[in-house]
Amino acid sequence: MSEARGGSASAGCADGYLGDMWRRAVRPGLIIAILGASCGGPAAPALPPVAPAAPRPSRAATAVAQASSPAPTPAATAATARAAPAPAPEAARGDRRFPAPFEREPAPIRGRVAWVADGDTLDIELPSGKVRVRLLGVDTPEKETEHTKAEPWGPEVGAIVARRLRGAEVELIADLAKRDAYDRVLGYVHLDGEDVGAWLLAQGYADVFRIADHPRRARYLALQGAARGAKRGLWGGAPAAPAFIGNRRSKLLHAPGCRWLPAEANREPFDSREAATRAGYTPHRECLGGG
Ligand SMILES: [Zn+2]
Repeated sequence: MSEARGGSASAGCADGYLGDMWRRAVRPGLIIAILGASCGGPAAPALPPVAPAAPRPSRAATAVAQASSPAPTPAATAATARAAPAPAPEAARGDRRFPAPFEREPAPIRGRVAWVADGDTLDIELPSGKVRVRLLGVDTPEKETEHTKAEPWGPEVGAIVARRLRGAEVELIADLAKRDAYDRVLGYVHLDGEDVGAWLLAQGYADVFRIADHPRRARYLALQGAARGAKRGLWGGAPAAPAFIGNRRSKLLHAPGCRWLPAEANREPFDSREAATRAGYTPHRECLGGG
């Protein structure tokens, strides 16, 4: 798995997928405080931070490590230096999983996708109101955040999922009463009767979130195995990165590493500066030295 995803461990905003269970299982309040601090979330009362986690090879373990070890901002580093060591969480050792958010699958609820945050997180408008949903049991590569560069396939998968799901009528299979630390429900989403999480795995656009139990876990692992065997998506390596990225709205052309890259929906990739110029784009002064 690491050949395609290796070296892409992000150290920024921890995925809050397990936040709720985490909160109950580890140290009440602590994770919320750290996630709030490193992700710009709601302010939380000051609490003693945990000791930094040792580097871990696996992606799932990375997620755990992120939950207990925030991005190395100067403030966090200083706080960590003062911290007393905390015991390593069970899950980080890879021998225990978090429980399923439901044992038996709840009845599907029909709704419409209002917003796609990234490959595995979306807002769905339900008859009872809008909920933020984290797809259960899958993990898509991260897009760029304030703290981290995008992982290989992160922008691509986010865009693919957005194109497929935005505005779509879907069914949500989730226990709406259970939320994670980001007030998200963990559930399956069906589009035209197809499980979106299973589709992501089959296409090689996601991997199985290894430390979470849920009813479809065995099937998800099988789908992942097939995608990996066929070298689909992220199992085949990194997608070809565009040489330049245009902003459809401003018509500015950026280098891929520019900090002013537009939102995914407004990006237009180019292989050459000339092609972008023909399309009416102007090089961004900061990243390409344009005027
Ligand atoms: Zn730029």
